[in-house]
Amino acid sequence: MIIGITGSIGSGKTTVAKLFSRHHYSRIDADEISHGLMGKNSVIYKKLIIAFGNEILDANKNIDRRRLSNIVFNDDKKLKKLNSVMHQIIIKNIKNEISKIKKKCVGNAKIIIDAPLLLETKAKNLADTVIVVKCDKKNVIKRLSRIYAREKIEKILNAQMPLREKLKHADFVVDNNKDLKRLEKQVVKIIRSLEGNE
Ligand code: ATP
Repeated sequence: MIIGITGSIGSGKTTVAKLFSRHHYSRIDADEISHGLMGKNSVIYKKLIIAFGNEILDANKNIDRRRLSNIVFNDDKKLKKLNSVMHQIIIKNIKNEISKIKKKCVGNAKIIIDAPLLLETKAKNLADTVIVVKCDKKNVIKRLSRIYAREKIEKILNAQMPLREKLKHADFVVDNNKDLKRLEKQVVKIIRSLEGNE
């Protein structure tokens, strides 16, 4: 069984995916894959420097993802460019991860793919079930305030597929406006429903 989980920035995708991993789901994180692909002197590293210039590098010549995101979330064309460099290779890596997990697994593998752009890309074809995590903007802003300024969160939210569109693809919706206990209850309920124990 392969679950795809998505939602807007800071909605709680990773938190929910980690709750699934407590219930023996193997987690594949598209952001971690993307990060790993940007290592110094990798093919993607070189492609990104050609596309965006040395201004995306930090003092140690590593790609500074914050700088990169500041560039692309201020320019739609650049965001499209970044996506055109990253999407296909991320999906290829997700497929590889799925194969590795399936090989190791006795019986049916239980996998959760945490992918912000699940529905915007062909990654959605990999999932049997789609979960959308929703969270009100005010709570996202509060929860991410240590990492991002409000203005940046709003820019990213505006660049993403609107929640109402995401919800059209959802088999399950998780409401992450309350505490973590209530989040876990919803996760357990979904697992019961998926695994037929209800
Ligand atoms: P991103 O889009 O940045 O990858 P995300 O959708 O994966 O984010 P998380 O990283 O899971 O979201 O959550 C964002 C922040 O909110 C984290 O610091 C997380 O610990 C916190 N958080 C998530 N859910 C809750 C909750 N129900 N109550 C309080 N804090 C929460």
